[in-house]
Amino acid sequence: MTDRLTPEQRHAVMAAIHGKGTKPEVIVRRFLWHRGYRYRLNHKFLPGKPDVVLRKYRTCIFVNGCFWHGHEGCKLYSVPKTNTEFWQKKVQRNKERDAEVLKQITEMGWHSIVIWECQLKPNCRETTLQYLDYTLNLFFLRDQHRVVDYEIGEGYVTEAAEDIMPFE
Ligand SMILES: [Zn+2]
Repeated sequence: MTDRLTPEQRHAVMAAIHGKGTKPEVIVRRFLWHRGYRYRLNHKFLPGKPDVVLRKYRTCIFVNGCFWHGHEGCKLYSVPKTNTEFWQKKVQRNKERDAEVLKQITEMGWHSIVIWECQLKPNCRETTLQYLDYTLNLFFLRDQHRVVDYEIGEGYVTEAAEDIMPFE
């Protein structure tokens, strides 16, 4: 196969394949920024290099492409007719890795939110983003409440400290 792309086109294609700075993530980041959320990108100390890390909310956000991450029951996830087994295995591995990453984040006492590419399509984007905003505030309020609980029960104090330390 000959390569007929200009360097710029090739860069765009590679960026799309590797999922860096692709549109769905940009939509989420732009929304959060305008709502006054401040975040980090692809934080290297957190499992799975989350797309957005909101420290104050102890939350990692993953913006998942429906095909690569195997969004069940989604129109954007249909296994190609050729090399079917190859693609199925590949997507299955991604799904297993995703599940492991979410488990690790939970074990650290952090929250994670997965937003699917299809949930950011123009017809449902607004609802998805409003729900994201709502969920983040819910997490924040719950965590505030939890800190109060820890102060009451002596045995929990160290546990709360362990949660926070790896990220300081
Ligand atoms: Zn989907």
